[in-house]
Amino acid sequence: MEMHENTPVQPYKILIVDDELPVHKLLSAYLKKYCFVVDSCLNSQQIVERIQAFQPDLVLLDLMMPELDGISATRRVRNLDLASYLPIIMLTAKKETRDMVIALEAGADDYITKPFEFDELMARINNMLRLKKLQDRLVHKTEELNEANQQISRLNHVLVQTNKQLQKKLYDFHRLFDMSYRVMSQLQFQGLVSQSLSNILVTFSARSAVLLLVNKDDSDIFEVVEYKGYHNDALRKFRLYRHDKLFHYLELARKVFKIQEVGGEFREIIPAMKSLELEVISPLFREDDIIGMLCLGPNAKDEEYAEDSLEALGILSNMLAVAVNNARTFEQIKALSYTDGMTGLHNYRFFRMRIKEEFARTRRENTPVSLLILDVDYFKNYNDTLGHPAGDEVLRKVSAILKKSVRDNDVVARYGGEEFAVILPGTEKIGAHTLAERIRIKVENTAFFRQEIQPNGKLTISIGIATFPEDALTEEDLILHADKALYHAKRTGRNKVVDVAEIHETVDSV
Ligand code: GH3
Ligand code: MG
Ligand code: MG
Repeated sequence: MEMHENTPVQPYKILIVDDELPVHKLLSAYLKKYCFVVDSCLNSQQIVERIQAFQPDLVLLDLMMPELDGISATRRVRNLDLASYLPIIMLTAKKETRDMVIALEAGADDYITKPFEFDELMARINNMLRLKKLQDRLVHKTEELNEANQQISRLNHVLVQTNKQLQKKLYDFHRLFDMSYRVMSQLQFQGLVSQSLSNILVTFSARSAVLLLVNKDDSDIFEVVEYKGYHNDALRKFRLYRHDKLFHYLELARKVFKIQEVGGEFREIIPAMKSLELEVISPLFREDDIIGMLCLGPNAKDEEYAEDSLEALGILSNMLAVAVNNARTFEQIKALSYTDGMTGLHNYRFFRMRIKEEFARTRRENTPVSLLILDVDYFKNYNDTLGHPAGDEVLRKVSAILKKSVRDNDVVARYGGEEFAVILPGTEKIGAHTLAERIRIKVENTAFFRQEIQPNGKLTISIGIATFPEDALTEEDLILHADKALYHAKRTGRNKVVDVAEIHETVDSV
Protein backbone atom coordinates (compact mmCIF):
# COMPACT_ATOMS: atom_id res chain seq x y z
CA MET A 1 0.00 0.00 0.00
CA GLU A 2 1.47 3.31 -1.12
CA MET A 3 0.88 6.47 0.91
CA HIS A 4 1.01 9.26 -1.59
CA GLU A 5 -1.78 11.38 -0.30
CA ASN A 6 -0.95 10.65 3.32
CA THR A 7 2.77 11.19 3.12
CA PRO A 8 3.27 14.24 5.31
CA VAL A 9 5.32 17.24 4.30
CA GLN A 10 7.08 16.95 7.65
CA PRO A 11 7.56 13.19 8.02
CA TYR A 12 5.70 11.66 10.94
CA LYS A 13 7.78 10.25 13.75
CA ILE A 14 7.02 6.81 15.16
CA LEU A 15 8.44 5.35 18.34
CA ILE A 16 8.58 1.56 18.57
CA VAL A 17 8.68 0.11 22.07
CA ASP A 18 9.26 -3.63 21.99
CA ASP A 19 11.64 -5.94 23.77
CA GLU A 20 12.26 -8.06 20.71
CA LEU A 21 15.04 -6.77 18.49
CA PRO A 22 13.89 -8.57 15.31
CA VAL A 23 10.51 -6.91 15.55
CA HIS A 24 12.31 -3.56 15.74
CA LYS A 25 14.37 -4.18 12.72
CA LEU A 26 11.50 -5.39 10.66
CA LEU A 27 9.18 -2.59 11.64
CA SER A 28 11.85 0.11 11.26
CA ALA A 29 12.76 -1.00 7.81
CA TYR A 30 9.18 -1.14 6.73
CA LEU A 31 8.19 2.21 8.19
CA LYS A 32 11.25 4.00 6.89
CA LYS A 33 10.31 2.79 3.45
CA TYR A 34 7.17 4.83 3.84
CA CYS A 35 9.17 7.86 4.86
CA PHE A 36 8.48 7.72 8.57
CA VAL A 37 11.17 8.74 11.00
CA VAL A 38 11.59 5.91 13.38
CA ASP A 39 13.10 5.54 16.78
CA SER A 40 13.00 2.44 18.90
CA CYS A 41 13.31 1.50 22.47
CA LEU A 42 13.82 -2.02 23.81
CA ASN A 43 13.21 -1.22 27.43
CA SER A 44 9.75 0.09 28.24
CA GLN A 45 11.13 1.70 31.42
CA GLN A 46 12.62 4.37 29.20
CA ILE A 47 9.43 5.13 27.33
CA VAL A 48 8.84 8.50 29.01
CA GLU A 49 12.39 9.80 28.40
CA ARG A 50 12.27 8.60 24.81
CA ILE A 51 9.00 10.29 24.16
CA GLN A 52 10.28 13.57 25.58
CA ALA A 53 13.51 13.39 23.58
CA PHE A 54 12.11 12.13 20.28
CA GLN A 55 8.65 13.71 20.40
CA PRO A 56 6.96 11.03 18.29
CA ASP A 57 3.63 11.41 16.57
CA LEU A 58 2.64 7.87 17.35
CA VAL A 59 3.84 4.98 19.55
CA LEU A 60 3.79 1.32 18.70
CA LEU A 61 3.85 -0.40 22.06
CA ASP A 62 4.26 -4.07 22.82
CA LEU A 63 1.74 -5.27 25.37
CA MET A 64 3.92 -7.93 26.95
CA MET A 65 7.32 -6.80 28.10
CA PRO A 66 9.43 -8.09 30.97
CA GLU A 67 10.35 -4.90 32.79
CA LEU A 68 7.21 -2.78 32.46
CA ASP A 69 4.18 -4.15 30.71
CA GLY A 70 2.38 -2.18 27.98
CA ILE A 71 -0.57 -1.32 30.23
CA SER A 72 1.62 0.38 32.85
CA ALA A 73 3.64 2.06 30.15
CA THR A 74 0.43 3.41 28.59
CA ARG A 75 -0.65 4.82 31.96
CA ARG A 76 2.71 6.57 32.31
CA VAL A 77 2.36 8.12 28.86
CA ARG A 78 -1.15 9.27 29.56
CA ASN A 79 0.05 10.95 32.74
CA LEU A 80 2.46 13.09 30.73
CA ASP A 81 1.55 16.64 29.94
CA LEU A 82 2.17 16.61 26.21
CA ALA A 83 1.64 19.48 23.82
CA SER A 84 -0.60 17.36 21.61
CA TYR A 85 -2.29 14.03 21.78
CA LEU A 86 -0.04 11.02 21.29
CA PRO A 87 -1.75 7.95 19.81
CA ILE A 88 -0.67 4.53 21.05
CA ILE A 89 -1.14 1.34 19.06
CA MET A 90 -0.67 -1.86 21.05
CA LEU A 91 1.09 -4.81 19.55
CA THR A 92 -0.41 -7.97 21.02
CA ALA A 93 -0.43 -11.73 20.68
CA LYS A 94 -3.79 -13.33 19.99
CA LYS A 95 -4.05 -14.90 23.43
CA GLU A 96 -3.62 -11.54 25.11
CA THR A 97 -7.08 -10.30 24.10
CA ARG A 98 -8.28 -9.88 27.66
CA ASP A 99 -5.27 -7.73 28.60
CA MET A 100 -5.95 -5.80 25.46
CA VAL A 101 -9.25 -4.55 26.85
CA ILE A 102 -7.42 -3.31 29.96
CA ALA A 103 -4.82 -1.63 27.75
CA LEU A 104 -7.54 0.20 25.84
CA GLU A 105 -9.07 1.28 29.12
CA ALA A 106 -5.66 2.50 30.30
CA GLY A 107 -5.47 4.80 27.29
CA ALA A 108 -4.25 2.88 24.27
CA ASP A 109 -6.01 3.86 21.08
CA ASP A 110 -5.87 0.72 18.95
CA TYR A 111 -4.22 -2.65 18.77
CA ILE A 112 -2.92 -5.04 16.24
CA THR A 113 -2.38 -8.71 16.76
CA LYS A 114 0.98 -10.27 16.12
CA PRO A 115 1.90 -11.65 13.73
CA PHE A 116 0.41 -8.91 11.64
CA GLU A 117 0.16 -8.03 8.02
CA PHE A 118 2.13 -4.87 7.26
CA ASP A 119 -0.70 -3.55 5.17
CA GLU A 120 -3.02 -3.83 8.11
CA LEU A 121 -0.49 -2.15 10.38
CA MET A 122 -0.09 0.60 7.84
CA ALA A 123 -3.83 1.09 7.67
CA ARG A 124 -4.02 1.32 11.46
CA ILE A 125 -1.12 3.74 11.64
CA ASN A 126 -2.56 5.96 8.93
CA ASN A 127 -5.91 5.91 10.57
CA MET A 128 -4.41 6.97 13.89
CA LEU A 129 -2.32 9.70 12.30
CA ARG A 130 -5.32 11.04 10.45
CA LEU A 131 -7.20 11.19 13.72
CA LYS A 132 -4.24 12.83 15.37
CA LYS A 133 -4.05 15.38 12.61
CA LEU A 134 -7.72 16.20 13.09
CA GLN A 135 -7.23 16.30 16.84
CA ASP A 136 -4.25 18.64 16.50
CA ARG A 137 -6.20 20.85 14.19
CA LEU A 138 -9.03 20.91 16.68
CA VAL A 139 -6.65 21.88 19.47
CA HIS A 140 -5.21 24.60 17.28
CA LYS A 141 -8.67 25.89 16.42
CA THR A 142 -9.61 25.85 20.09
CA GLU A 143 -6.54 27.90 20.88
CA GLU A 144 -7.45 30.35 18.13
CA LEU A 145 -10.97 30.48 19.50
CA ASN A 146 -9.67 31.15 22.99
CA GLU A 147 -7.47 33.93 21.69
CA ALA A 148 -10.42 35.38 19.77
CA ASN A 149 -12.53 35.12 22.89
CA GLN A 150 -9.95 36.99 24.89
CA GLN A 151 -9.81 39.63 22.21
CA ILE A 152 -13.59 39.94 22.26
CA SER A 153 -13.54 40.21 26.01
CA ARG A 154 -10.91 42.97 25.77
CA LEU A 155 -12.97 44.74 23.11
CA ASN A 156 -16.02 44.33 25.24
CA HIS A 157 -14.23 45.99 28.11
CA VAL A 158 -13.27 48.89 25.87
CA LEU A 159 -16.85 49.03 24.64
CA VAL A 160 -18.20 49.17 28.17
CA GLN A 161 -15.74 51.96 29.02
CA THR A 162 -16.57 53.89 25.85
CA ASN A 163 -20.23 53.45 26.56
CA LYS A 164 -19.76 54.83 30.06
CA GLN A 165 -17.89 57.84 28.67
CA LEU A 166 -20.62 58.36 26.10
CA GLN A 167 -23.28 58.24 28.76
CA LYS A 168 -21.32 60.76 30.81
CA LYS A 169 -21.03 63.02 27.76
CA LEU A 170 -24.72 62.68 27.10
CA TYR A 171 -25.44 63.58 30.70
CA ASP A 172 -23.10 66.58 30.50
CA PHE A 173 -24.72 67.60 27.26
CA HIS A 174 -28.19 67.43 28.77
CA ARG A 175 -27.06 69.45 31.73
CA LEU A 176 -25.47 72.03 29.47
CA PHE A 177 -28.61 72.20 27.39
CA ASP A 178 -30.75 72.57 30.48
CA MET A 179 -28.52 75.32 31.82
CA SER A 180 -28.37 77.19 28.55
CA TYR A 181 -32.12 76.93 28.22
CA ARG A 182 -32.52 78.52 31.63
CA VAL A 183 -29.92 81.14 30.75
CA MET A 184 -31.65 82.02 27.54
CA SER A 185 -35.07 82.32 29.11
CA GLN A 186 -33.96 84.78 31.80
CA LEU A 187 -34.60 88.36 30.81
CA GLN A 188 -34.08 89.99 34.14
CA PHE A 189 -30.41 90.94 34.23
CA GLN A 190 -29.55 90.48 37.90
CA GLY A 191 -31.42 87.18 38.08
CA LEU A 192 -29.69 86.00 34.95
CA VAL A 193 -26.12 86.63 36.08
CA SER A 194 -26.72 85.40 39.60
CA GLN A 195 -28.41 82.18 38.50
CA SER A 196 -25.87 81.56 35.75
CA LEU A 197 -22.89 81.87 38.09
CA SER A 198 -24.48 79.58 40.67
CA ASN A 199 -25.09 76.96 37.99
CA ILE A 200 -21.58 77.32 36.64
CA LEU A 201 -20.11 76.89 40.11
CA VAL A 202 -21.89 73.58 40.54
CA THR A 203 -21.48 72.29 37.00
CA PHE A 204 -17.75 72.92 36.78
CA SER A 205 -17.02 72.22 40.45
CA ALA A 206 -15.33 75.58 40.67
CA ARG A 207 -14.47 77.29 43.97
CA SER A 208 -15.43 80.63 42.51
CA ALA A 209 -16.93 82.14 39.40
CA VAL A 210 -16.72 85.78 38.36
CA LEU A 211 -18.46 87.67 35.60
CA LEU A 212 -17.01 90.88 34.23
CA LEU A 213 -19.05 92.92 31.79
CA VAL A 214 -18.44 96.00 29.77
CA ASN A 215 -19.74 99.18 31.41
CA LYS A 216 -23.00 100.36 29.89
CA ASP A 217 -21.78 103.92 29.39
CA ASP A 218 -18.07 103.43 28.84
CA SER A 219 -17.15 100.52 26.61
CA ASP A 220 -13.49 100.75 27.66
CA ILE A 221 -14.20 99.63 31.19
CA PHE A 222 -14.95 96.11 32.32
CA GLU A 223 -16.22 95.67 35.84
CA VAL A 224 -17.25 92.79 38.04
CA VAL A 225 -21.03 92.50 37.89
CA GLU A 226 -21.32 89.30 39.90
CA TYR A 227 -19.21 86.74 41.68
CA LYS A 228 -19.99 83.54 43.51
CA GLY A 229 -18.00 81.23 45.68
CA TYR A 230 -15.42 82.19 48.26
CA HIS A 231 -14.84 85.84 48.93
CA ASN A 232 -11.93 87.77 47.66
CA ASP A 233 -12.46 91.42 48.51
CA ALA A 234 -10.11 92.59 45.78
CA LEU A 235 -12.56 91.09 43.31
CA ARG A 236 -15.33 93.52 44.13
CA LYS A 237 -13.29 96.49 42.97
CA PHE A 238 -11.47 94.65 40.21
CA ARG A 239 -11.60 96.45 36.88
CA LEU A 240 -10.05 95.87 33.52
CA TYR A 241 -9.56 98.28 30.66
CA ARG A 242 -9.83 97.54 26.99
CA HIS A 243 -6.22 98.53 26.39
CA ASP A 244 -5.03 95.92 28.94
CA LYS A 245 -2.91 93.16 27.52
CA LEU A 246 -5.43 90.58 28.61
CA PHE A 247 -7.94 91.90 26.11
CA HIS A 248 -5.43 91.80 23.35
CA TYR A 249 -4.88 88.17 24.25
CA LEU A 250 -8.62 87.42 24.40
CA GLU A 251 -9.15 88.98 21.01
CA LEU A 252 -6.42 86.80 19.54
CA ALA A 253 -7.32 83.60 21.37
CA ARG A 254 -11.11 84.00 21.10
CA LYS A 255 -11.57 80.95 23.30
CA VAL A 256 -11.49 79.61 26.81
CA PHE A 257 -7.99 79.30 28.26
CA LYS A 258 -6.19 78.43 31.45
CA ILE A 259 -4.15 81.26 32.91
CA GLN A 260 -1.03 79.14 33.29
CA GLU A 261 -1.09 78.27 29.59
CA VAL A 262 -0.64 81.87 28.55
CA GLY A 263 2.74 82.30 26.95
CA GLY A 264 5.12 84.84 25.48
CA GLU A 265 4.60 88.55 25.97
CA PHE A 266 1.20 87.86 27.51
CA ARG A 267 2.67 86.17 30.56
CA GLU A 268 2.58 89.52 32.38
CA ILE A 269 -1.21 89.19 32.81
CA ILE A 270 -0.77 86.05 34.88
CA PRO A 271 0.18 87.57 38.28
CA ALA A 272 -2.90 89.80 38.46
CA MET A 273 -5.26 86.95 37.65
CA LYS A 274 -3.43 84.60 40.00
CA SER A 275 -3.68 87.11 42.83
CA LEU A 276 -7.46 87.04 42.34
CA GLU A 277 -7.25 83.25 42.39
CA LEU A 278 -8.69 82.98 38.89
CA GLU A 279 -7.56 80.08 36.75
CA VAL A 280 -9.75 79.93 33.68
CA ILE A 281 -10.98 82.78 31.49
CA SER A 282 -13.69 82.52 28.91
CA PRO A 283 -14.38 85.57 26.76
CA LEU A 284 -17.94 86.68 26.03
CA PHE A 285 -18.21 87.83 22.46
CA ARG A 286 -20.96 89.69 20.76
CA GLU A 287 -20.16 89.42 17.11
CA ASP A 288 -16.53 90.58 17.03
CA ASP A 289 -16.69 92.59 20.18
CA ILE A 290 -15.72 91.36 23.64
CA ILE A 291 -18.53 92.30 25.98
CA GLY A 292 -17.24 90.52 29.02
CA MET A 293 -15.45 87.54 30.46
CA LEU A 294 -16.38 84.64 32.62
CA CYS A 295 -13.66 83.50 35.02
CA LEU A 296 -13.37 80.38 37.13
CA GLY A 297 -11.35 79.99 40.29
CA PRO A 298 -9.59 76.74 41.20
CA ASN A 299 -11.36 73.44 40.83
CA ALA A 300 -13.06 72.40 44.07
CA LYS A 301 -11.67 68.87 43.73
CA ASP A 302 -8.19 70.33 43.22
CA GLU A 303 -8.03 68.78 39.78
CA GLU A 304 -7.18 70.37 36.47
CA TYR A 305 -10.23 71.40 34.46
CA ALA A 306 -10.73 68.78 31.75
CA GLU A 307 -10.72 69.82 28.10
CA ASP A 308 -14.35 68.73 27.88
CA SER A 309 -15.27 71.12 30.67
CA LEU A 310 -13.50 74.02 29.01
CA GLU A 311 -15.30 73.29 25.78
CA ALA A 312 -18.64 73.28 27.59
CA LEU A 313 -17.71 76.52 29.34
CA GLY A 314 -17.00 78.06 25.94
CA ILE A 315 -20.42 77.08 24.63
CA LEU A 316 -22.07 78.39 27.76
CA SER A 317 -20.16 81.66 27.50
CA ASN A 318 -21.45 82.18 23.98
CA MET A 319 -24.99 81.69 25.19
CA LEU A 320 -24.41 83.85 28.22
CA ALA A 321 -23.13 86.61 25.95
CA VAL A 322 -26.37 86.54 23.97
CA ALA A 323 -28.48 86.29 27.13
CA VAL A 324 -26.65 89.16 28.86
CA ASN A 325 -27.10 91.28 25.81
CA ASN A 326 -30.81 90.44 25.64
CA ALA A 327 -31.28 91.17 29.33
CA ARG A 328 -29.52 94.52 29.02
CA THR A 329 -31.60 95.44 25.99
CA PHE A 330 -34.71 94.32 27.82
CA GLU A 331 -33.84 96.50 30.82
CA GLN A 332 -33.20 99.44 28.51
CA ILE A 333 -36.57 98.95 26.85
CA LYS A 334 -38.19 98.59 30.24
CA ALA A 335 -36.50 101.78 31.39
CA LEU A 336 -37.72 103.48 28.24
CA SER A 337 -41.26 102.38 28.96
CA TYR A 338 -41.00 104.11 32.33
CA THR A 339 -39.44 107.26 30.98
CA ASP A 340 -41.00 110.33 29.56
CA GLY A 341 -39.31 110.96 26.26
CA MET A 342 -39.53 114.71 26.24
CA THR A 343 -38.30 115.54 29.73
CA GLY A 344 -36.28 112.40 30.58
CA LEU A 345 -38.25 112.17 33.83
CA HIS A 346 -40.10 109.04 34.95
CA ASN A 347 -43.58 108.78 33.43
CA TYR A 348 -46.98 108.41 35.04
CA ARG A 349 -46.81 104.59 34.90
CA PHE A 350 -43.58 104.61 36.85
CA PHE A 351 -45.00 107.10 39.31
CA ARG A 352 -47.95 104.81 40.02
CA MET A 353 -45.69 101.81 40.47
CA ARG A 354 -43.31 103.64 42.79
CA ILE A 355 -45.94 105.26 44.98
CA LYS A 356 -47.47 101.82 45.49
CA GLU A 357 -44.07 100.39 46.49
CA GLU A 358 -43.43 103.39 48.70
CA PHE A 359 -46.68 102.85 50.55
CA ALA A 360 -45.94 99.18 51.07
CA ARG A 361 -42.57 100.09 52.56
CA THR A 362 -43.84 103.05 54.53
CA ARG A 363 -46.55 100.94 56.23
CA ARG A 364 -43.96 98.30 57.12
CA GLU A 365 -41.40 100.72 58.48
CA ASN A 366 -43.90 103.25 59.79
CA THR A 367 -42.10 106.21 58.20
CA PRO A 368 -43.77 109.27 56.63
CA VAL A 369 -44.00 109.97 52.91
CA SER A 370 -44.91 113.28 51.30
CA LEU A 371 -46.18 113.98 47.83
CA LEU A 372 -45.90 117.17 45.81
CA ILE A 373 -48.03 117.77 42.74
CA LEU A 374 -46.90 120.71 40.61
CA ASP A 375 -48.58 122.49 37.72
CA VAL A 376 -47.35 125.29 35.49
CA ASP A 377 -49.44 128.46 35.88
CA TYR A 378 -51.27 129.85 32.83
CA PHE A 379 -49.46 127.37 30.63
CA LYS A 380 -52.20 127.44 28.03
CA ASN A 381 -51.54 131.11 27.54
CA TYR A 382 -47.79 130.52 27.14
CA ASN A 383 -48.37 127.78 24.58
CA ASP A 384 -51.01 129.64 22.64
CA THR A 385 -48.90 132.79 22.48
CA LEU A 386 -45.44 131.37 21.86
CA GLY A 387 -46.20 128.00 20.33
CA HIS A 388 -45.78 124.43 21.44
CA PRO A 389 -42.01 124.17 20.98
CA ALA A 390 -41.50 127.09 23.38
CA GLY A 391 -43.89 125.38 25.82
CA ASP A 392 -41.89 122.14 25.53
CA GLU A 393 -38.73 124.01 26.37
CA VAL A 394 -40.37 125.34 29.54
CA LEU A 395 -41.36 121.81 30.55
CA ARG A 396 -37.78 120.61 30.02
CA LYS A 397 -36.39 123.49 32.06
CA VAL A 398 -38.84 122.88 34.93
CA SER A 399 -37.92 119.18 34.80
CA ALA A 400 -34.23 119.99 35.15
CA ILE A 401 -34.94 122.26 38.13
CA LEU A 402 -36.95 119.50 39.78
CA LYS A 403 -34.28 116.85 39.24
CA LYS A 404 -31.60 119.12 40.63
CA SER A 405 -33.65 120.04 43.70
CA VAL A 406 -34.38 116.56 45.05
CA ARG A 407 -32.36 113.80 46.70
CA ASP A 408 -31.42 110.53 45.07
CA ASN A 409 -34.20 108.44 46.51
CA ASP A 410 -36.90 111.02 45.79
CA VAL A 411 -38.95 110.23 42.69
CA VAL A 412 -39.67 112.96 40.15
CA ALA A 413 -42.23 112.11 37.47
CA ARG A 414 -44.10 113.85 34.71
CA TYR A 415 -47.60 113.35 35.96
CA GLY A 416 -49.53 114.74 33.01
CA GLY A 417 -49.19 117.42 30.33
CA GLU A 418 -47.72 120.24 32.37
CA GLU A 419 -48.07 118.59 35.74
CA PHE A 420 -45.34 116.95 37.76
CA ALA A 421 -45.24 114.80 40.86
CA VAL A 422 -42.49 114.37 43.42
CA ILE A 423 -42.56 111.47 45.90
CA LEU A 424 -40.53 112.22 49.01
CA PRO A 425 -39.96 109.00 50.99
CA GLY A 426 -39.30 109.51 54.70
CA THR A 427 -40.03 113.23 54.48
CA GLU A 428 -42.31 114.97 56.99
CA LYS A 429 -44.63 117.81 56.06
CA ILE A 430 -42.18 120.54 57.12
CA GLY A 431 -39.42 119.12 54.97
CA ALA A 432 -41.79 118.74 52.04
CA HIS A 433 -42.95 122.32 52.44
CA THR A 434 -39.41 123.67 52.52
CA LEU A 435 -38.48 121.76 49.38
CA ALA A 436 -41.68 122.81 47.59
CA GLU A 437 -41.08 126.44 48.42
CA ARG A 438 -37.47 126.19 47.24
CA ILE A 439 -38.63 124.74 43.91
CA ARG A 440 -41.34 127.38 43.50
CA ILE A 441 -38.81 130.18 44.06
CA LYS A 442 -36.26 128.62 41.71
CA VAL A 443 -38.84 128.46 38.93
CA GLU A 444 -39.98 132.00 39.65
CA ASN A 445 -36.38 133.18 39.44
CA THR A 446 -35.53 131.31 36.29
CA ALA A 447 -35.42 133.35 33.09
CA PHE A 448 -37.81 131.60 30.71
CA PHE A 449 -38.04 132.64 27.10
CA ARG A 450 -40.41 135.64 26.78
CA GLN A 451 -42.02 134.90 30.13
CA GLU A 452 -43.20 138.49 30.38
CA ILE A 453 -46.18 137.57 28.20
CA GLN A 454 -47.64 135.60 31.12
CA PRO A 455 -50.56 137.21 33.09
CA ASN A 456 -48.38 137.76 36.18
CA GLY A 457 -45.37 138.83 34.08
CA LYS A 458 -43.30 135.68 34.66
CA LEU A 459 -43.47 131.90 34.37
CA THR A 460 -44.43 130.29 37.67
CA ILE A 461 -45.73 127.07 39.16
CA SER A 462 -48.17 126.10 41.87
CA ILE A 463 -47.59 123.18 44.23
CA GLY A 464 -49.94 121.06 46.33
CA ILE A 465 -48.64 118.99 49.27
CA ALA A 466 -50.08 116.00 51.12
CA THR A 467 -48.35 113.76 53.66
CA PHE A 468 -48.83 110.24 54.90
CA PRO A 469 -50.03 109.43 57.50
CA GLU A 470 -51.60 112.70 58.70
CA ASP A 471 -53.46 113.62 55.46
CA ALA A 472 -54.12 110.23 53.92
CA LEU A 473 -53.63 106.54 54.64
CA THR A 474 -53.70 105.20 51.09
CA GLU A 475 -51.79 106.24 48.00
CA GLU A 476 -55.02 107.05 46.17
CA ASP A 477 -56.05 109.38 48.95
CA LEU A 478 -52.64 110.96 49.13
CA ILE A 479 -52.77 111.81 45.41
CA LEU A 480 -56.29 113.12 45.78
CA HIS A 481 -55.27 115.38 48.66
CA ALA A 482 -52.17 116.71 46.98
CA ASP A 483 -54.32 117.47 43.93
CA LYS A 484 -56.86 119.21 46.10
CA ALA A 485 -54.11 121.37 47.64
CA LEU A 486 -52.85 122.23 44.16
CA TYR A 487 -56.34 123.22 43.05
CA HIS A 488 -56.57 125.39 46.13
CA ALA A 489 -53.26 127.06 45.25
CA LYS A 490 -54.60 127.82 41.79
CA ARG A 491 -57.82 129.27 43.14
CA THR A 492 -56.06 131.41 45.68
CA GLY A 493 -53.66 133.21 43.36
CA ARG A 494 -51.14 130.70 41.83
CA ASN A 495 -47.31 130.82 42.21
CA LYS A 496 -47.75 129.36 45.65
CA VAL A 497 -47.35 126.21 47.75
CA VAL A 498 -50.43 124.86 49.51
CA ASP A 499 -50.47 122.11 52.05
CA VAL A 500 -53.74 120.19 52.11
CA ALA A 501 -53.74 120.48 55.92
CA GLU A 502 -53.94 124.29 55.57
CA ILE A 503 -57.20 123.95 53.61
CA HIS A 504 -58.76 121.99 56.45
CA GLU A 505 -57.64 124.67 58.84
CA THR A 506 -59.22 127.30 56.60
CA VAL A 507 -62.44 125.29 56.37
CA ASP A 508 -62.39 124.69 60.11
CA SER A 509 -61.81 128.39 60.84
CA VAL A 510 -64.70 129.42 58.59
P1 GH3 B 1 -53.53 126.90 35.23
O1 GH3 B 1 -52.68 128.03 35.69
O2 GH3 B 1 -54.89 126.90 35.84
O3 GH3 B 1 -52.86 125.61 35.33
O4 GH3 B 1 -53.80 127.20 33.70
P2 GH3 B 1 -53.21 126.42 32.51
O5 GH3 B 1 -53.39 127.23 31.27
O6 GH3 B 1 -51.81 126.00 32.80
O7 GH3 B 1 -54.12 125.15 32.52
P3 GH3 B 1 -54.72 124.27 31.45
O8 GH3 B 1 -54.88 122.88 32.06
O9 GH3 B 1 -55.95 124.89 30.93
O10 GH3 B 1 -53.70 124.18 30.29
C1 GH3 B 1 -52.75 123.20 30.18
C2 GH3 B 1 -52.06 123.38 28.90
O11 GH3 B 1 -50.82 122.78 28.88
C3 GH3 B 1 -52.82 122.81 27.74
C4 GH3 B 1 -51.76 122.45 26.75
O12 GH3 B 1 -51.70 123.39 25.70
C5 GH3 B 1 -50.47 122.54 27.54
N1 GH3 B 1 -49.70 121.33 27.45
C6 GH3 B 1 -49.98 120.13 28.00
N2 GH3 B 1 -49.00 119.23 27.69
C7 GH3 B 1 -48.12 119.92 26.91
C8 GH3 B 1 -46.87 119.57 26.26
O13 GH3 B 1 -46.42 118.45 26.33
N3 GH3 B 1 -46.22 120.53 25.60
C9 GH3 B 1 -46.68 121.77 25.51
N4 GH3 B 1 -45.99 122.67 24.84
N5 GH3 B 1 -47.83 122.14 26.06
C10 GH3 B 1 -48.53 121.21 26.78
MG1 MG C 1 -52.93 121.63 34.18
MG1 MG D 1 -51.39 124.74 34.36
